[in-house]
Amino acid sequence: MEQVIVIGAGPCGLSAAVALERAGLSPLLIEKSCIVNAIYLYPTYLQFFSTPELLEIGGYSFTTPHDKPYRQEALVYYREVARREQLRIHSYEEAVRIEQVASGFKVLTSDQFGNKATYNTHKVVVATGYFDHPNLLGIPGEELPKTTHYYREAHPYAGAKVAIIGGNNSAVDAAMDLLRVGAEVTVVYRGKDFSANIKPWVRPLFESMVNKGRIRMWFDSQVERIDEQAILVRKGSEHVTLDNDFVLALTGFRPDRQLLTDIGVQFHEETNAPLVNPDTMETNIPGLYVAGVVASSKYDANEIFIESGRLHGLSITAHIVNDQSLQS
Ligand code: FAD
Repeated sequence: MEQVIVIGAGPCGLSAAVALERAGLSPLLIEKSCIVNAIYLYPTYLQFFSTPELLEIGGYSFTTPHDKPYRQEALVYYREVARREQLRIHSYEEAVRIEQVASGFKVLTSDQFGNKATYNTHKVVVATGYFDHPNLLGIPGEELPKTTHYYREAHPYAGAKVAIIGGNNSAVDAAMDLLRVGAEVTVVYRGKDFSANIKPWVRPLFESMVNKGRIRMWFDSQVERIDEQAILVRKGSEHVTLDNDFVLALTGFRPDRQLLTDIGVQFHEETNAPLVNPDTMETNIPGLYVAGVVASSKYDANEIFIESGRLHGLSITAHIVNDQSLQS
């Protein structure tokens, strides 16, 4: 019988696991991919917008010669924390269902080969994040191989006509990158002006490329259809067809909360965030907690990020250690 199972080894799940480990609860982490898989899937050369100390977990210092760390440094950092804490991590094993039983919960899993397992545990922390589920556009052509919701690096797009959908940091970073490999870049953005969220040290460079006409930026615009060699865009009140080789739909992500809905977790009627006690992150099901981005609302999955979500594990641990039932 496990004391606590943490589902998801992203930064917030790892942070919770470290806190639980230090409290003597020896949590088992179940991760369907590799640890910090979302960061692994970030653009290869991404620089965080957070300073390193705001990404730290477990009190381990995150040292870097840069103002803001790069993806590769974060992979090393979180890997190293997991190693030093000797966390028990079952990687490449997906939690497919959580069931309530008299002693707590059963967590049912399936690994990459389809092997099934069942774990009994007193408590469960769900920290499954959001990166597996991009916000879909719901337009014809979204399923074409030339369309992706994940941008890694510029090389494959050298010299190509690329449309980027979105106007936040992911879109802006990709546009700047693509310029360097000679791509013809058009950013199609619903907003009427540059997003206020663009990293302040990137924004002047991006604006200058737009003003010089090196990046085409279409505000108040939406891609309506993606064809093999073109896209159809609503640009203000006009409809424009643009020659196109690739579409990068960088429109953000949303949490998949199937595990939570299946077991009966309640959600806020308006925001669709799981109903939790904000002091403990416990859901309406006693002993079942959420940590990190999975706790965000449908309006803004970015309202919780590493800086804030890494703290959830501390509240959860404090609540669990005070639970008399675990001490017997
Ligand atoms: P995730 O990191 O998404 O981790 C969830 C984990 O759960 C994943 O490893 C996933 O494989 C696993 N999982 C999912 N379902 C299951 C299942 N059923 N069974 C087992 N495992 C499962 N935030 C910042 O604070 N600062 C930044 O500078 C910053 N920069 C960003 C840049 C980009 C390009 C992006 C996309 C995001 C950025 N963020 C930043 C946001 C940050 O990445 C997220 O807030 C963070 O990853 C959330 O952590 P998490 O642990 O809640 O979820």
